[in-house]
Amino acid sequence: MSVRKQLKVIEKLQQVDKEINRLEKLIEKIPAQIEKEESSVERMEQQHKELVDQRFDLIKRRDKKELDVKALETKIEKKQGDRFKVSKQEEFDKINASIESLKQQVEDNDMQYLVLDEEIGEVEQEIASLMAATQEAQGEVDEFVAERKAQLKKTQAELEKQLEKREKLKDEMREVDEQLLSRYEKIKLRKFPVLVPIMEHVCGGCYARVPAQRINEVRQMRSIFYCESCSRILYWKEGESET
Ligand SMILES: [Zn+2]
Repeated sequence: MSVRKQLKVIEKLQQVDKEINRLEKLIEKIPAQIEKEESSVERMEQQHKELVDQRFDLIKRRDKKELDVKALETKIEKKQGDRFKVSKQEEFDKINASIESLKQQVEDNDMQYLVLDEEIGEVEQEIASLMAATQEAQGEVDEFVAERKAQLKKTQAELEKQLEKREKLKDEMREVDEQLLSRYEKIKLRKFPVLVPIMEHVCGGCYARVPAQRINEVRQMRSIFYCESCSRILYWKEGESET
């Protein structure tokens, strides 16, 4: 097979490989895209859980205040009874002072109860709006995931087609010099495209200068030449200005 024909086969192969690369990259990206979207809802769910815990804790603290007030009121009642059991003014005054102090404590606790109750209301509002936002986000994520999964299926079908196309090139590839083919496959693993034109006296892959003598040899197509700096396969594109 002539060098020109061999390069044609490599060119066809490269076109299919380019498409395979593109499709494989698309397919590779999809799971991460889905995961990223799903994690945003997971974060919201985690936040919801934290708010529910916070609400539970606040309710516990608020109800404790109520119990404390009840206990203080029982104490006050008892003290009020005690006042009738003492005879000295001094003792009477002492009990009254202690009743006043207890009443102050009741007031403080009532105030704290109200503050906690208000905080609970705020947290409950946050929970409600977060739940609504989560539901909306979940809907969007479901839509996104369905769309990406459909894209994945479509891309996999396209890839399948390209792989079949490559399979069909096998007959032509058998005609190509084995060493050229194996070099193509080897370079492909690290660099793409592998087959590059000489443009403005440089390699179309790495832009290293190609000596005039080498350009002539590439143009004559008597043999296959590789870029001395990046090892890519060089070809001469008709219409390129001559040296
Ligand atoms: Zn090069």
